[in-house]
Amino acid sequence: MTAIRLPSIDRLLRSPACQPLQQRYGREALLKTLRDLLDELREPVRHGQLAAIELSEAVLAGRAGERLAASHASRVRRVFNLTGTVLHTNLGRALLPEEAIQAVALAARHPLNLEFDLASGRRGDRDELITGLIRELTGAEAVTVVNNNAAAVLLALNSLGARKEGIISRGELIEIGGAFRIPDIMARAGVRLVEVGTTNRTHARDYESAIGPRTGLLMRVHTSNYSVQGFTASVATRDLAGIAHAHGLPLLEDLGSGTLVDLTRWGLPKEPTVQEALADGADLVTFSGDKLLGGPQAGLILGSRELIARIKKNPLKRALRVDKLTLAALEAVLGLYRDPDRLAERLTTLRLLSRPQADIRAQAERLAPRLAGVLGAGWQVAAAEALGMIGSGAQPVARLPSAALCVRPVQPKRLRGRALRQLEERLRGLPIPVLGRLDDDALWLDLRQLDDEPAFLAQLAQLAEGAA
Ligand SMILES: *Cc1c(COP(=O)(O)O)cnc(C)c1O
Repeated sequence: MTAIRLPSIDRLLRSPACQPLQQRYGREALLKTLRDLLDELREPVRHGQLAAIELSEAVLAGRAGERLAASHASRVRRVFNLTGTVLHTNLGRALLPEEAIQAVALAARHPLNLEFDLASGRRGDRDELITGLIRELTGAEAVTVVNNNAAAVLLALNSLGARKEGIISRGELIEIGGAFRIPDIMARAGVRLVEVGTTNRTHARDYESAIGPRTGLLMRVHTSNYSVQGFTASVATRDLAGIAHAHGLPLLEDLGSGTLVDLTRWGLPKEPTVQEALADGADLVTFSGDKLLGGPQAGLILGSRELIARIKKNPLKRALRVDKLTLAALEAVLGLYRDPDRLAERLTTLRLLSRPQADIRAQAERLAPRLAGVLGAGWQVAAAEALGMIGSGAQPVARLPSAALCVRPVQPKRLRGRALRQLEERLRGLPIPVLGRLDDDALWLDLRQLDDEPAFLAQLAQLAEGAA
C-alpha cells in the first residue's frame, strides 16, 4: 500500500477545479480556505484515515467551494413575512413602493442637490427637499427629518424643554420597546418630567395646576401600543393646546405611527392623522417614516416655523440627521399621497394592509394542497381564517381579518410541540426563509403579505427534499 500524500497548495491553486473559485472569490480568500482545509487533513492523512479520492483536486475544490459560499453569503437576507404582523419591527417594517426604490437608486448612483439650492447656486438645506410636499399635504409651516421617531422625540424635547419641566399625563408614560421609554427619553433630553393625573384618568385641571414658572412644554403621546379601556378620561389635543397656549407654552404631540390619510376609507381602524393633530393646535407633531406612512426609517417633526427653526439650530440635529437615500425615498413616498385615490395601489404598505380577505382566502385555498403535497402524511394543511395586525404599535387591539395556511401535525398531542418546532426550523432554513407564527398547536402562515407566490412555490420542493 502506497502512502497517500496531501497535494501541494500551489498545485491545488492552479488546478482547473479551483479556477472558477478564484474568479468568484479572489485568490486571497481561496488560498486561505485551501490552507485551512489542508491543515485539517494533515493528521488524518498521517494516520492513513483517508482514501485517495478524498484528496483529489475535484473533491478538495468542492469542499473549498462550499466553505467559501457559506462564508461569503450575505448576512442581509430576504424573508417571507407570514407572521400576520404587517409592520414588523424585527423584519424591517414598511416595504418601499417602486417609486421610492427608484429614487434611492438614483440618489445612490449620482451626485445630487442634497444641500445645494439649484435656483440660487448657494448652499441649501436638506430638509427643503421635502418641505414643499409636507406643506402641501399637511398644512404644516415647516418640517425637519431625523433618523427615526425616537430621535425626533428626543430632539424636540431637548430643543423645547432642556433645563425646564415637561408636563405629561401618567397614562402616557409608555414604553415602545427596544428601550424607548418616555421618562428615560425625557431625562436624556434634559427635561424634568412632571407627571399629572393617573394611569386611567387625567383631566384639564391636572395640567392647569402643574403649570408653573419652570414649565417648558406640555407633551402628549399617542398610546399607540396599548389601550386603556373602561373608566378612562384624557384631555383632547384641542383642549390641551388651549391650556398650553393660554400660558404661552408649546404642545408637543408624539403620534408614533402617524398617518396622512384617514385609514377608515380602506376599511382599516381609525388612527389619528397628522393633519388633525396640527389642526387641533399641536405646535409640533412627531411620527415615524416606516410605520403607517409606508416609507423609509425616519422621524418627522412638523409644525411651527419658529419651533422648527429652533430645532434646526440644536447641535443634536446634526447628529441625528438623515442621509440622502432616506430623503430620496421619503420624497417619493410623500409624492404618492398627492393622489389618495391611487394610494392603495401604489403605496406597498397600504396595499398590503387593505388587501381584501377574500383575496387572501383564495390564495390560501390555492396553496394549501401544494404545501400538503410536499409535507406529506404527517401533516394536515388547511386554508383557515386568521387575524393579523398592523404592528409597530399602531392599533394594538385592532385585528386585520386575513387567511392563513394552518399546518397541524397529526401526531399525538405530546409530540406535536417538537414536530412544530422542527417544521418551523425547516421553513426558516429555506433559501428565502419563511417565517410564520406558532399558536394553538399549529403553525400559521398568514398570507396577507405573500405577493411573490412563484418564489414561495419554487422553494416548496426543497422543503420536500429536506424532509426526505
Ligand atoms: C414607534 C413609536 C416611537 C418610536 O418610533 P421609531 O421610529 O421606532 O423610533 C415613538 N413614539 C411612539 C408613540 C411610537 O409608537
